[in-house]
Amino acid sequence: MSTAKSPTPTFVEVVVPLALPKTLTYKWFSSNGESPVVGSRVVVPLGRKKWTGVIWEIHQIPPEGYVAKEVEALVDDAPILTSQQRDMFAWMADHYMCSLGEMVGAALPAGMKLESTTRIVLHPDASNASEDGLDDQCIMLLDALHVREDMGIRDCSELLGIKHPQRAIRTLLQRGLALAKEELNERVKPKLVSWVRIAQGVEEEALSAALAWAGVKAVAMERLLLTVIEEGEIPKVQAQKRSRTDASTVQKWVDRGILEVEEREPARPSRPGTAKMPQLSSAQAKAYNDVHAGLVARKPVLLHGVTGSGKTEVYTHLIAEALSSGQQVLFLVPEIALTTQLIERLRRFFGDVVHVYHSRFSDRERTETWMSVLQPGAAQLIVGARSAVLLPLPKLGLIVVDEEHEPSFKQHDPAPRYHARDVALWMASRQDVPLVLGSATPAVETQWLGEQGLLQVVPLTERFGGALLPEIFLADLRKEHKQRSMRGGFSKMLRDEMDATLKEGRQVILFQNRRGYAPAYQCTQCGHAATCERCDIPLVVHKTLGGLHCHHCGYHERPAPANCISCGSTALKPQGLGTERIEEELAELFPTARVARMDLDTTRKKKAHAKLLEAFANVEYDILVGTQMVSKGLDFAHVGLVGVMSADRMLTFPDFRSFERAYQMLTQVAGRAGRSGAGARGKVVIQTFSADHWLLHHVVDHNHKALVRRELIERQTYAYPPYVRMIRLTLKHGDPQRVEAGAGVLAARLQQRFGERVLGPDTPALSRINDQHIRQLTLKFERSLAPTQYRKLLQADLEEFSADPRWKRLRINIDVDPA
Ligand code: ADP
Ligand code: ZN
Ligand code: ZN
Repeated sequence: MSTAKSPTPTFVEVVVPLALPKTLTYKWFSSNGESPVVGSRVVVPLGRKKWTGVIWEIHQIPPEGYVAKEVEALVDDAPILTSQQRDMFAWMADHYMCSLGEMVGAALPAGMKLESTTRIVLHPDASNASEDGLDDQCIMLLDALHVREDMGIRDCSELLGIKHPQRAIRTLLQRGLALAKEELNERVKPKLVSWVRIAQGVEEEALSAALAWAGVKAVAMERLLLTVIEEGEIPKVQAQKRSRTDASTVQKWVDRGILEVEEREPARPSRPGTAKMPQLSSAQAKAYNDVHAGLVARKPVLLHGVTGSGKTEVYTHLIAEALSSGQQVLFLVPEIALTTQLIERLRRFFGDVVHVYHSRFSDRERTETWMSVLQPGAAQLIVGARSAVLLPLPKLGLIVVDEEHEPSFKQHDPAPRYHARDVALWMASRQDVPLVLGSATPAVETQWLGEQGLLQVVPLTERFGGALLPEIFLADLRKEHKQRSMRGGFSKMLRDEMDATLKEGRQVILFQNRRGYAPAYQCTQCGHAATCERCDIPLVVHKTLGGLHCHHCGYHERPAPANCISCGSTALKPQGLGTERIEEELAELFPTARVARMDLDTTRKKKAHAKLLEAFANVEYDILVGTQMVSKGLDFAHVGLVGVMSADRMLTFPDFRSFERAYQMLTQVAGRAGRSGAGARGKVVIQTFSADHWLLHHVVDHNHKALVRRELIERQTYAYPPYVRMIRLTLKHGDPQRVEAGAGVLAARLQQRFGERVLGPDTPALSRINDQHIRQLTLKFERSLAPTQYRKLLQADLEEFSADPRWKRLRINIDVDPA
């Protein structure tokens, strides 16, 4: 009989951010009365290290077969994961066949996982903070901090003679008496920021007079003033940049009493948006109402709006409504680097409630965003790439997924290999979150959901402002080659259209999805192309960088070799057309045109991308040459022509989605032409050797419906998604024989279990990357089967396979719903 004095120990299940198959059981023992909280972080011993994990469950059942170790410390008073998030992670771990640890690892910013190594120091401003009401432990700790440089959790624990010093530490941190050491290093004095605005008391008339004067006498001053008027108030640097002026221009207006400058702390109290949202056109208003009705009926909505129809405007009105009722809105975009235009626009409407979240932000910024969205004081709009779907959003009232067809919503590596749009769809159906997907070229699978009645499809078929969809022409390269009318990579048709467009003073975008000078370096004697030492692909010729480069592993040969390694001949030539080469050919064909190039090589530097776009938008260039970066969501008013240098590679790519992708890519890039209603209808020239291809004809006709119909028939016939669920297993090993053998054994084992649902092993087109040889198995399961069942069986088979010492170093990636 136990007495009431010895309480039953409590056990906690902890998820540490590692690929472990299970949660870990620890004993909870609190010396100072703290109780465990589900969703809070704890520090636990594992192996020889300490880890920060998250409490997943609390119970009274001791583990079988071993004695549970004790939790070292509780890090948070309150959960840092919401219960909705925990449900979602559990579903994701299950669906994407990864561990909860991998989910937590992917979601939490690194800084939040390293708590056990945190050291605290005396706050530099501690003397200004009150020590009233501190308990003995806090005072002891504070005294120690006055004399010691820094203290770790263990030091504090020894000093106080207690196991869990966390509460005392937290109190000091919260009262501004102590500081985490990393924070001290990052704590730079807030630099003041200069803002400019119209000076107090300047009347409308004085302003008009000033503008009129500047318009005649000083156009730079005029530009600056217009920028400030447009914004109301704006950071000085930004005003100068946007108006292409400098500090002296600002000073001139200050001297005249028209502008004034104010120094502000960068962390301003919440600043509301200043700009008014534009009124919706009647077509947009109808779409808005239909979307709204769908959301009220708790159905996810697909806004299928052609390029330039103003989907962003429709979202903006939906967002405004959710924000006004104090909710959080999650706005997912494919690539944050490409959205400076969008974010600026949203900030103008919504001010400081806009948060941007992206994996490339610093750890500290991401941690700050995490904490601020976890406990939202007010409405918030979070704009982010796919990882933002993993944030804690307790007041989530709306999710918008823009360009929902974009493959970048799917994570490839490492696990969890999730698709942010599909996760959003799960949230809509299981957690009742209103969801809007938007695209001009919706994914075939999304359209299918619409046909099944699982989504409400709202069309928006006209462009804003009376602009027409561009007119698309195919340039038949076969014919032009025969007629000898090609000049380098340019057909006569494309050259003529470029000529006409430039003469009208409009801009041209040229699209070629290959960076570098030429995609291959080939021997004209024997046909051999130089390949990467470590990967199974041709090396790319680069002019600016010099030499040959591998785009997969970074391997390069500089300078390019003089002899063919196959036959020794010196007759080596760059083959094919990269963006650099197009730029070079343009210099000859259009010597007076101002040409900009936008690809990974020209945009590596921070902000280079935004600068290029801004310069192009300001018509500082006539022609923009670029890779897929130029296809995405850009909104330029002066583009009259888009040229696609070659559509052929897209049409021969070995993947069941390649036609869909080609349609999307071509339609999106074409959609950059003729967006403003002013001027003639935009034109697009697509160069191809397959001018009869059915897909290109659907692109020319803007016939997305026909594409979807055809694709769905094909996919049903050949058993591809959405009619089956696919799981792809990728096996990698440094030794080609080992991977071949392993793949064979695994395939046989799985075929025994799942029969013909298992395809492969196959050698993918790119069969070796960075000296890792690759084989793939593809599993296709009928939609009528319950995924939970076959996933468990598959998991068990994989575990058994990996336990075999022969396959010890064979890496297996599991990709569910591969994109
Ligand atoms: P989409 O995302 O559908 O391609 P955008 O939302 O970028 O289209 O809109 C295309 C262009 O038309 C943008 O320059 C946008 O500012 C403008 N526009 C769209 N709707 C309106 C509106 N209601 N009032 C004013 N401008 C609009
Ligand atoms: Zn050769
Ligand atoms: Zn390589």
